[in-house]
Amino acid sequence: MGTLFKNGTVITASEMIKADVLVEGETISLLGKDIAPDGHEVVDCTDKYLMPGGIDVHTHLELPFGGTVSNDDFNTGHKAAAFGGTTSHIDFVIQPVGKSLEDGLKIWREKSKQAQIDYGYHMAITDLRPEVMEEIPGLVDQGITSLKLFMAYKNVFQVDDTTLFKAMQIAEENGMIVMVHAENGDVEATLTPELLAAGNTAPQYHASSRPPEIEGEATNRAVVMSGLTGCPLYVVHMTCESSIDALRRGRAAGYPVMGESCTQYFFLTVDDHLAAPGFEGAKYVCSPPIRTTHDHQVLWQALKDSTLQAVSTDHCNFWYDGGKGPWQEWLDERGGLSWVEYEQQDPSYRRPGKELGVGNFAKIPNGMPGLEERMMVMWEHGVNAGRISPTRFVELLCTNPAKIFGMYPRKGTISVGSDADIVVWDPELEYTLSVDNTHMLTDYIVYEGWKVKGKPVKVYQRGKKLVDGDEWFGKNGEGCYIPRQAHAPVI
Ligand SMILES: [Zn+2]
Repeated sequence: MGTLFKNGTVITASEMIKADVLVEGETISLLGKDIAPDGHEVVDCTDKYLMPGGIDVHTHLELPFGGTVSNDDFNTGHKAAAFGGTTSHIDFVIQPVGKSLEDGLKIWREKSKQAQIDYGYHMAITDLRPEVMEEIPGLVDQGITSLKLFMAYKNVFQVDDTTLFKAMQIAEENGMIVMVHAENGDVEATLTPELLAAGNTAPQYHASSRPPEIEGEATNRAVVMSGLTGCPLYVVHMTCESSIDALRRGRAAGYPVMGESCTQYFFLTVDDHLAAPGFEGAKYVCSPPIRTTHDHQVLWQALKDSTLQAVSTDHCNFWYDGGKGPWQEWLDERGGLSWVEYEQQDPSYRRPGKELGVGNFAKIPNGMPGLEERMMVMWEHGVNAGRISPTRFVELLCTNPAKIFGMYPRKGTISVGSDADIVVWDPELEYTLSVDNTHMLTDYIVYEGWKVKGKPVKVYQRGKKLVDGDEWFGKNGEGCYIPRQAHAPVI
């Protein structure tokens, strides 16, 4: 007996068709008109859309950063993702400085034991010593086919140009893709102390320390290296005209270069959010920074003309009002980080968060929540606003991420043989986004009070129901690791 999704409209990257979908076991076994119920469990999808589960290829769950750890983990983050229609994600394993890639993987495998949705890993390289280079080909055998390098965060994650270029050469030889955080970290590391010394310590100066030109410059540098090495490049979280122009030039030159933006960069601005009174702007501190309404228009245009291939979140959330309870003593006693345990002792206890940067914008942990809202917000302002079609929406949030990162057609589409990751989407359902109804572990959201029309009402992963209305059916440990293919297409 299977599950039969009847009377819905299936949306893929290429078409919208009225069709029934039969799921047997974990995969889709049949697509067609008027499939007989035949003893299957029937899910009535009249007036609903059926979409492939969303894929977010840019998340940081339980990431150690700036003296704390991001809130959502493979438990809470996964649940929030699924309520928003996202059933797979790729998280960044960070190579611990001075250690091996395998050391990083061990940490992430441990975190993943409580997974509730499917997940893969990118490998973020921070220190490319010769013996680390030798580890790279072995990653492909483990289904890790993407390397991430930071051109920013000097003295923390930043790599120099030699390292980036070499990494691209090795990646190209092994059929891998290189992802870059493109900002000139040396310029930022010069501007930041100057701003602080001049007394410019408020959250808005985070944007002054990272002007759009340094994103454009770094993007161009990576694009040129991709052209020289032939290594596919994926520029993460693109925010502004100067970097989009660099990507567009690279694509016009025939280089294998692609890019994503993240939800927040289409909506938030320095003036309205980062420069909000008091310390409020800290909620919106992420790198690269949010920009201007002009940049928003540039990003929408880049989605339309295929300069950009995907929309992710860079979900990396910290308490706005954190650091509550005797955390320092607690940590000293235990000598380790187990924030979940700490916060469970008393609901008022919280790990440190954004308040670490009061009086010094450079100490504000970078990142914001967004994993749950990505699909709803992009549907409302993309599809409902007439900027992109429903098929393009699916392409950007589900199909392209699967193709670029070697998960297609197992993930990212509704077709026979694909994993039955299915979102039943009600295009008429109106919903108000709020911290009061979010499933993320957070004390704020950046879309507070926003109204959207269109929302997942049922979410399935590999044939199993995860979400039905407000009810949660997922279980810890049921999320599966997704090994990914090398030599994925450049699109
Ligand atoms: Zn990120």
